[in-house]
Amino acid sequence: MIEKIAENISVIQNKIAAAQARSVYAAKQVQLLAVSKTYPIERVRDAVAAGQRAFGENRVQELVEKFEHCPDLEWHLIGHLQTNKVKYLIGKTCLIHSLDSMELAQEIEKRSAAQDVQTNVLVQLNIAKEDTKSGLMEDELADFLDAVCAFPHVHLSGLMTIGPNVEDASAIRSVFARLRQLRDAQQQILRPNCDLSLLSMGMSGDYEIAVEEGANIVRVGSAIFGQRVYS
Ligand SMILES: *Cc1c(COP(=O)(O)O)cnc(C)c1O
Repeated sequence: MIEKIAENISVIQNKIAAAQARSVYAAKQVQLLAVSKTYPIERVRDAVAAGQRAFGENRVQELVEKFEHCPDLEWHLIGHLQTNKVKYLIGKTCLIHSLDSMELAQEIEKRSAAQDVQTNVLVQLNIAKEDTKSGLMEDELADFLDAVCAFPHVHLSGLMTIGPNVEDASAIRSVFARLRQLRDAQQQILRPNCDLSLLSMGMSGDYEIAVEEGANIVRVGSAIFGQRVYS
């Protein structure tokens, strides 16, 4: 298992580098986030042995449990976050990828202020307008950024989206390109404390397209750890 995980990580790193080399939109640095949801902590340790430091979880409880095992690693929350779970998360995550409502932003501000920390967040967009996905609609973004940038304990770091669940690579590509264009447009607007440098997009099936379109964090699970079994 440990050799397989190391090999998978190395293959993915090479594919990321190749995608960077063939696109003008590619970021200079791309972080591989290993999505460890549903996999036991032993698999996380296998990945650490291969040099991996950043891990993504989509449920708060699972993130907190794994954080307690390995507090020195980077833990990212990538799944939808319920307001009533924020209190368990603050101080344990280095980046929340899924900020998608004002109510949630207010709660992150309140809980971060209480612990005297700044919490890094990405705003999630629902570019493909799929009912099953959370995230803001494009036309809500500008006002939302205005508001979030004013929160002293919420540090806005960029944008996140999930590619559409379709076969058509060009449809996936246009969603990722759109996230980059939205970021570029919003960066023209001067807002204090508004950092939009991170673009989190791409999963096991589409991370190479995402890198070509400017992702600097790709969230890859099953291509590293093998097929996931949901319990
Ligand atoms: C599970 C998940 C991933 C990783 O999915 P894989 O297809 O296993 O790479 C990425 N992003 C989010 C938001 C997820 O929930």
